[in-house]
Amino acid sequence: MKTLNDFNFKNKKALIRVDFNVPLNEKFEVTDNTRIVSAKPTIVKILEDGGSCILMSHLGRPKGAQDEFSLRHIVDEVQDILGVEVKFVNDCVGENAEKAAADLQPGEVLLLENLRFHKEEEAGDKVFSEQLSKLGDIYVNDAFGTAHRAHASTTIVADFFPNNKCFGILLAKEIESIEKVMKTGEKPVLAVLGGAKVSSKITIIENILDKVDHLIIGGGMSFTFVKAQGGKIGNSICEDDKMDLALDILKQAKAKNVQVHIPVDVVAADAFSNDANTQIVDIDKIPDGWEGVDAGPKSLEIFHEVVLQCKTILWNGPLGVFEMESFAKGTIGLGNSIAEATKNGAFSLVGGGDSVAAVKQFGFEDKVSYVSTGGGAMLESLEGKTLPGIAAILE
Ligand code: AMP
Repeated sequence: MKTLNDFNFKNKKALIRVDFNVPLNEKFEVTDNTRIVSAKPTIVKILEDGGSCILMSHLGRPKGAQDEFSLRHIVDEVQDILGVEVKFVNDCVGENAEKAAADLQPGEVLLLENLRFHKEEEAGDKVFSEQLSKLGDIYVNDAFGTAHRAHASTTIVADFFPNNKCFGILLAKEIESIEKVMKTGEKPVLAVLGGAKVSSKITIIENILDKVDHLIIGGGMSFTFVKAQGGKIGNSICEDDKMDLALDILKQAKAKNVQVHIPVDVVAADAFSNDANTQIVDIDKIPDGWEGVDAGPKSLEIFHEVVLQCKTILWNGPLGVFEMESFAKGTIGLGNSIAEATKNGAFSLVGGGDSVAAVKQFGFEDKVSYVSTGGGAMLESLEGKTLPGIAAILE
């Protein structure tokens, strides 16, 4: 796996795919700069080598060149974070971009305009990719969030740098973290899968059964498993058409010696509302008119013991409707257990959408080993797919 350390960037122009797709408010101010901060180590390393950086990214989903999606809005923020002047050019290919790139001196940073102002970006167009490739000497991909897309800047452009391409620091860390869970992690390995639907996690569950020793199934997903086994789940969310599949998953898990843990008790609410009446009930005896919205205390005790036994932990998906304060205890409890296991030396990776939001919201970000920056890319990695952006560098 080629990384920044395989190159000396002195007097070289690095063409770096970053993920600066950051949220902006109505005044076009960056409201969460995590993604820019995450890209900083790669940029700093190249500048310190004596190279220069040409940064390319998309922002939002523009239809053609729409000023509200211009990356010029974030120049000041990028400059503040990097601590060096950031030049900006109003296109990512063509004469202006080529001139700006050619004029760039060692130690300087240039930000290109939004790649998605050209429809060729998402189409993975070869000619457009070649135009991009003219701007730099070495291609660096540091954008995990788009690594599952075969777009021009994430994948196709790599073809034009057969020997001069590598992963940036952030992307290399993402790949290593996933490898730890999927291949090289110390046993026992645990996956916690929560969230709303079984249907969105089937491929992950099936892929992961070969890699883990323990599997915790929590959140809304668990009710399909409980009902399939004959439990009464009241009004809890359930995918009836996935019940056979749920039973099949349990069978596969048994055959593969994976211990599956499903909540034994739940917080049941009489409405899907933060101030609903609640009661703690066994998960397979939820009264009609009530729905399971969070893991109960007995379940959390069991999960705590499982988590503390494990040396490698993957967490994807909340254990309850954590967006409502009254139903966040399960997710917070699990976060505390994983934090404790991490403190004791386990490796913990949190990834994929809502669990990342939960971890940030409840302050666990610094208490787990790694929080992935890519939602869809993370999920596809867990499904066992080789991401095109990663394959393009490995080829
Ligand atoms: P996912 O995107 O599949 O990870 O699902 C995340 C969503 O699942 C969050 O918005 C949670 O509110 C929701 N969720 C978790 N547990 C439950 C539950 N018991 N009932 C309904 N929704 C749930």
